[in-house]
Amino acid sequence: MQTKAAVLWEYGGEWEIDELTLDDPREGEVLIRLAASGLCHSDEHVRIGDLPMEDLPAIGGHEGAGVVEAVGPGVHTVAEGDHVVLSFIPVCGKCQWCAQGRENLCVYGAGIQVGLQRDDTSRHHVRGKAARLMCNIGTFSPYTVVHEDSVVKIDDDIPLDKAALVGCGVTTGYGTAVYGAEVRAGETVVVLGIGGVGANAVQGARVAGASKIIAIDPSPFNREQAGKFGATHMFASAEEALEPINEMTRGEMANAALVTVDVTTGKVIGDAVSLVGKCGRVALTSLAPMDATDVQMPIFEVIAYEKQIVGCLFGHANPRADIPKLLSLYREGKLLLDELITRTYTLEQINEGYEAMRTHQNIRGLVLYD
Ligand SMILES: [Zn+2]
Ligand SMILES: [Zn+2]
Repeated sequence: MQTKAAVLWEYGGEWEIDELTLDDPREGEVLIRLAASGLCHSDEHVRIGDLPMEDLPAIGGHEGAGVVEAVGPGVHTVAEGDHVVLSFIPVCGKCQWCAQGRENLCVYGAGIQVGLQRDDTSRHHVRGKAARLMCNIGTFSPYTVVHEDSVVKIDDDIPLDKAALVGCGVTTGYGTAVYGAEVRAGETVVVLGIGGVGANAVQGARVAGASKIIAIDPSPFNREQAGKFGATHMFASAEEALEPINEMTRGEMANAALVTVDVTTGKVIGDAVSLVGKCGRVALTSLAPMDATDVQMPIFEVIAYEKQIVGCLFGHANPRADIPKLLSLYREGKLLLDELITRTYTLEQINEGYEAMRTHQNIRGLVLYD
């Protein structure tokens, strides 16, 4: 079939809208008609070359939901007409990580920057070339063909545009609090960076019962948004937050610090480590350039106060269990999704959406398809 897609041709370039020729789904694959795609920061990392794909051109987008239009041979988990959220990490259900309930670490995650189908070919063709797919899904297109391992069936009553957000940002943020940092009732939690992931880290901490949720972000708009999602205190910087946190915790400092900034740096890690107290957990979620290695942190405190630093991919979540669970929380009014969407765009306006993200005007921008 013929459709269109937002394609990256060179690092540092803009997303270009191209005609897309899409092949039929083969063994184990499904054709999805997308309802919406979130504009997540990770695609920006790809665009600027921080997180390069194995090859270009590549179709961006890894946060989407839609309807199964057709299935290839041997597809067992979904059928035509099913509503699905696309998981930005495939879940095979059979590898040792999936088997241990660590679906976010599925061995097929190794292919998400390669961006080819399971048989190392492509169903997507632009200007006569095979296109790679961000996270094996490429949601910057009204249609895509993906492996069935990349889709999670959801209930039909959930609006698909809201469900799209659960494919990356919501699950990543919520899971950073609930699973990565294991936030418990009554704790003090700091969230560094309130974007599409950080707002959900705040929500995760709220759902887990945190008593104080301290949002740190330089943008007044983002700080104001943090309050909507459950933050109890807001500061513009870690330096500004240090003394008030010391006072409000009677010197104990925070139990957990969640790093959900634009780009994780050694400075931010040091800040997060300084803001937690004894047995404090620091969960690192935001991506960093692949060659970044330097961290400045109070090493003595890490040792003497038994502070922990944990990496956190896709919020430590199990997409097949957690995506439906989070959508149930949404249905019950306990998890806010509508409020995350600051602006909506057509696919053709995608660069405008990213500009709004870069200048902190959006918690989440969303491309809607008709
Ligand atoms: Zn993402
Ligand atoms: Zn697996």
